[in-house]
Amino acid sequence: MKILVINAGSSSLKYQLINMETEEVVAKGTCERIGIDGGKLTHKAHGETFVVEQELPTHTDAISLVLKELVDEKAGVISSMDEIDAVGHRVVASGEAFKKTTLVSDEAMKKMDEIAELAPLHNPAAILGVNACRAVMPGKKMALVFDTSFHATMPEYAYLYAVDYDDYKKYQVRKYGAHGTSHKFVSQAAAEYLGKDPAELKIITCHLGNGSSISAVKGGKCIDTSMGFTPLAGVPMGTRSGDIDYAAVEFLCRKKGLSMAEGLNYLNKKCGMLGVSGVSSDFRDLAAAADGGNKRAQLALDMFAYSCKKYVGAYMAALGGLDVIVFTAGVGENTPSVRAGVVSGLEAFGVKLDYKKNQYKNDGAVHEISADDSAVKILVIPTNEELVIARETAALL
Ligand code: ADP
Repeated sequence: MKILVINAGSSSLKYQLINMETEEVVAKGTCERIGIDGGKLTHKAHGETFVVEQELPTHTDAISLVLKELVDEKAGVISSMDEIDAVGHRVVASGEAFKKTTLVSDEAMKKMDEIAELAPLHNPAAILGVNACRAVMPGKKMALVFDTSFHATMPEYAYLYAVDYDDYKKYQVRKYGAHGTSHKFVSQAAAEYLGKDPAELKIITCHLGNGSSISAVKGGKCIDTSMGFTPLAGVPMGTRSGDIDYAAVEFLCRKKGLSMAEGLNYLNKKCGMLGVSGVSSDFRDLAAAADGGNKRAQLALDMFAYSCKKYVGAYMAALGGLDVIVFTAGVGENTPSVRAGVVSGLEAFGVKLDYKKNQYKNDGAVHEISADDSAVKILVIPTNEELVIARETAALL
C-alpha cells in the first residue's frame, strides 16, 4: 500500500509518498511559491534531486505537477496514479469538530470550512490542498489528520481556560495544543525503544524546534500540553512570545499603537528568541552569538531552557511521577546545550543527564542520554510526522 502525505501551506506544499509495507519514503518534495511568481518543485527520488521551475498559480497546479513528477519516466516512482492507495492531509486545527482522523467527504469539508477561523494562518491552506487533490484525483480516498487529535484525550480541567463556561461552549475557546502527530510518534517510539507497554509509562515529550511544545503523556494518552487555543502559548519560541500576561498585551498594543490583530502578529512573528536576542530566531545563530559573548543571545537561550524546565516540573506533578523525557525536532535533536539546560537541576527528581552521551553527533537514530543511575530515562528520538499521517490514513482505510 502506498500513501501520499500532503502538508499544504499558503504558498508551499510538501509531500511524501510512503510505502506502508516497509514504511519507507519512496519520493518526497516541495512546491514553493504557489500563487507567487517563480514557482518551483524540488523532487527527491532514487537518491537524486529533480528541480522543475514552472509557474504554479494555484494549489491544483502544484498537485498536478507533483503527480506528473511521481509518474515521470526519469524522476517517477510509480507507473500510474492508481498505485496511490490514499492521500493523508495534515491539518493544524480540528476545533471540537473532529476528535480523530476523518475521511474526506463533502460533509467533513463543510465542517472544515466552519472551523477555518480557529487557525487562520494554517487551516485555509489545508482546505486548498484537499480541494486540489479532489480536483486532480477524483474518487481517491483521503484522510484529514489533525495536529490536535493526540491532545483530544486531555481532561476537561486541563484543556479549559477559566473563562465564562457559557462562552467556552458558545465559541469553543479552550486549549487544543499542536504538534500532536510528533508527540504521538515519539511517545510511542520511546515505549518501543524501552521494550515497555505504553500503558505503563509516564512520559514528557519535548518537541523543540522553531515552534516548540511540551506534552505530558500517561499510559499512551496525552493529559496536558503547553500550546493552547493556538500555537502562541507555552514556552518562548523562534519568533513567538509563548505565555504572557494578557494585560501586558493590551498595554503593549496601546503603547505601540497596534490593533489587536497587529499585536498578535507582533507576538507571533517578532518576539521569542528573535525579540529577546535581537540576533535571530534560529538556535544555531543564537548559540554562535552567545559563544561570541552576545549577552542577549545567551539570555534568550537561558529563558528558553528555564521555561521548558518549568513545564517539565509541572508535568511531573500532573503525571504523578516520570519515567521518560523525550527530546525531538530541530533543536531537541541537534542542540546538546539546550537539552542540558532543560534537565540540569532536576537531579533531585531522579533526572540525571550523562553529559558525555548528550554530546553524540546526530545520526538520525534514537539515543539514550541519561546517566546509567538516572531513575528517569532521557531519550532523543527523531520525529516523523509524515509517517504518523500515513499510518493514520492507512488505519482509516
Ligand atoms: P519547525 O519544523 O518548527 O520549522 P524545526 O524542527 O526544523 O522547526 O527546528 C528548527 C530549529 O532547529 C532552528 O532553530 C535550528 O537552528 C535548529 N537546529 C539546530 N541544529 C540543527 C540542525 N543540525 N539541523 C536543523 N535544525 C537545527
